[in-house]
Amino acid sequence: MNFGNLELLPLSDGFFRLDGGAMFGVVPKPLWERRAPADERNRIRLGIRPLLIRGERTMLVDAGIGAKMDPRSVDIYGIDRAHNLDHALAEAGVSPAEVDIVLASHLHFDHAGGFTSSDGGAVVPRFPRARYVVRTAEWEDATHPHERNRASYLQENFVPLATAGVLDLVPGDETIMPGVRVVRTGGHTMHHQIVMIESGGRTAVFAADLLPTTAHVDEPWIMGYDLYPMDTLAFKRTFVREAIDREYLIVFEHDPEVAAGYIREENGRKRVERVA
Ligand SMILES: [Zn+2]
Repeated sequence: MNFGNLELLPLSDGFFRLDGGAMFGVVPKPLWERRAPADERNRIRLGIRPLLIRGERTMLVDAGIGAKMDPRSVDIYGIDRAHNLDHALAEAGVSPAEVDIVLASHLHFDHAGGFTSSDGGAVVPRFPRARYVVRTAEWEDATHPHERNRASYLQENFVPLATAGVLDLVPGDETIMPGVRVVRTGGHTMHHQIVMIESGGRTAVFAADLLPTTAHVDEPWIMGYDLYPMDTLAFKRTFVREAIDREYLIVFEHDPEVAAGYIREENGRKRVERVA
């Protein structure tokens, strides 16, 4: 997708499955299963879609689950990486060494798993020339996990970046490269951030876990995984209004079908007009 001076390319690291109830929080199953059918283990299918941005530099936003998950987790999360980020990058004609910047929305394993790879035992940065950009307070939370978030923050996904000296911590809402800036949403994690991409008078947004799928556009459809769901609600109310009024192109990281679209409102009902 050409977007002003930038090129945006939603990639794929395959699919995985999470508990449908946990994905929709307080929404009852008879309602959510119409939007996202559950399998025999009550899981719904989710995409894993890092975003490649080519501009002044080549940037990858999030990097999927990666190949380090153990067989038990692969089973529990139904991880299917038959077609994964390696394939998607090759199809896009981008070698891992061409990636200049890897930007994290947050450090949960389904976003940061692909930041590192296992090199015959040692875990090393997967993109050999890249600087990895992480929000400072998200880094602090991820490296000091508690009982509620420990299963999501797998240290091997990000600690090796610090060891290798390729980590850039960014304290606030800042421009990461021309046309690309981060905005903290909180909610999902205290310092979860989205990526605003602005070029040629248009705005695209990598919404990460603020709007993981098109089924999450309605305000109360908030994940049970969110640590601070009322903060998600507050941010989402303002953001979705703005996205409709200003016609933001939204990139949905976890939607199994829709990579990107516009949120439209007709007669008080919201829907997503798919563009990719
Ligand atoms: Zn997450």
